[in-house]
Amino acid sequence: GVRDGLGAYIAKPETYAPDVVVYHNDDFVAIHDMFPKSSLHLLLLPRDQTKTRMHPFDAFEDTEFLAKVKAETRTLRKLAAGELRRKYGKDSAQEQARQAALSADPPPDELPQGRDWEQEILVGLHAVPSMNHLHVHVLSVDRYSERLKHRKHYNSFSTPFFVPIEDFPLAEDDVRRNPTQEGYLKRDFTCWRCGRGFRNRFVELKQHLEQEFKEWKKL
Ligand code: 5GP
Ligand code: ZN
Repeated sequence: GVRDGLGAYIAKPETYAPDVVVYHNDDFVAIHDMFPKSSLHLLLLPRDQTKTRMHPFDAFEDTEFLAKVKAETRTLRKLAAGELRRKYGKDSAQEQARQAALSADPPPDELPQGRDWEQEILVGLHAVPSMNHLHVHVLSVDRYSERLKHRKHYNSFSTPFFVPIEDFPLAEDDVRRNPTQEGYLKRDFTCWRCGRGFRNRFVELKQHLEQEFKEWKKL
């Protein structure tokens, strides 16, 4: 069924073009999300056959496995940051300052730091995944995408329904273990960047996300 759609990538990653499969090795496949919910949205798929059909909360009880996945997400976060720098670096104020300093004659001893794009990336999992094969989301913070069409799309990446990989292992009594009870996906909208509330007004939220996206790129 459609919920098994991610299985093909871990079975035969070599059969996909680079715009679909970003890289693969013996243990992991990194892909582009087919329905991206941010301007950059990747998925990391562990290939371990004993883990791929488990719920992430259960799979990550294995601390050795969790450590391995965390290490790979650090690699993918760096790669994603490089991608953001290529996409938006020229727009970024910090990047422009750095370029200006580099081309000064003579250049200053201390160059301004370029923008830390690794901080602009979210890495985590949905408390209730819709796809069966274990996957970690690696996406830019903007949540700006044509594919972000439904209330639950925004809230699934903007409430505790999204569990950052660093939060694992979860405590026994962590409320996110019972996410449906909390109604995260039906919550009022809050802008990820400025914290402004939009109640249930999705169209207004979408317009605001576009404005925030433009400013975020240039920051
Ligand atoms: P979940 O809600 O299960 O954590 O997220 C599953 C993700 O997989 C979604 O972001 C969705 O857009 C993505 N997705 C669903 N089907 C496919 C597919 O066939 N190929 C790719 N590359 N991504 C998919
Ligand atoms: Zn805002």
